[in-house]
Amino acid sequence: MIPLKSQKDLEMLKHSGEILASVMSRLVKIVQPGITTLDIDRISEELILKNKAVAAFKGYRGFPATACVCVNEEIVHGIPGSRVISEGDIVSIDLGVNYQGYFSDMAVTLPVGKVDQIKNKLIEVTRKSLAAGIKQAVVGNYLTDISHSIQSFVEAEGFSVVRQFVGHGIGLALHEEPEIPNFGKPHLGPLLKSGMVLAIEPMINVGSWECFILENGWTAVTKDGKPSAHFEHTVAITDKGPIILTQ
Ligand code: MG
Repeated sequence: MIPLKSQKDLEMLKHSGEILASVMSRLVKIVQPGITTLDIDRISEELILKNKAVAAFKGYRGFPATACVCVNEEIVHGIPGSRVISEGDIVSIDLGVNYQGYFSDMAVTLPVGKVDQIKNKLIEVTRKSLAAGIKQAVVGNYLTDISHSIQSFVEAEGFSVVRQFVGHGIGLALHEEPEIPNFGKPHLGPLLKSGMVLAIEPMINVGSWECFILENGWTAVTKDGKPSAHFEHTVAITDKGPIILTQ
């Protein structure tokens, strides 16, 4: 069952999403050469707590940090640590907020200083693929209309869609039903209804979609070592169309 949210739930989720978006907008400004991924994590946690919210990832299935921070070839679930960010890197920050029991989830990928053309294109294509997916998140469409629109957009640009990780329902828990693949045939899966809230999150690779998990048991990296990008929004499906809660 995909849980449907009440008007009150949606208002609380909007609040949670606004906190997350404001934290993210601060983080975007501090990502520059010389800082470590752990610096980003510490600042994320401070900002979330300042907003009287809780970091939703910390402790989730044992995840040890507030933010997932991924650099270049890292796809998702990067554990913040001593890695120093340099000019020319791309950095993905994935963050979750729990505000009074209401969860929101968001990710962005940022260029650090001047990055090469292919990384710039990757960021743009990934951002636009999320927008294409959100556009399909309307009452009366099927779930995989979202998936299919993301995959077709990305592959037309010559990049590939990660298969091993998918988006998810969200709201009263960080992960709810349904799973939302970023690939697949259209017009399948459950019919989308008003009151569903989805975390749509394409993870896109320059090279092959294949990945492996590092020895830390969390961090997924591209098999070919080429860069990967990740954008995510928490989106409510309503009779008036999709509402992005994390902006
Ligand atoms: Mg997510």
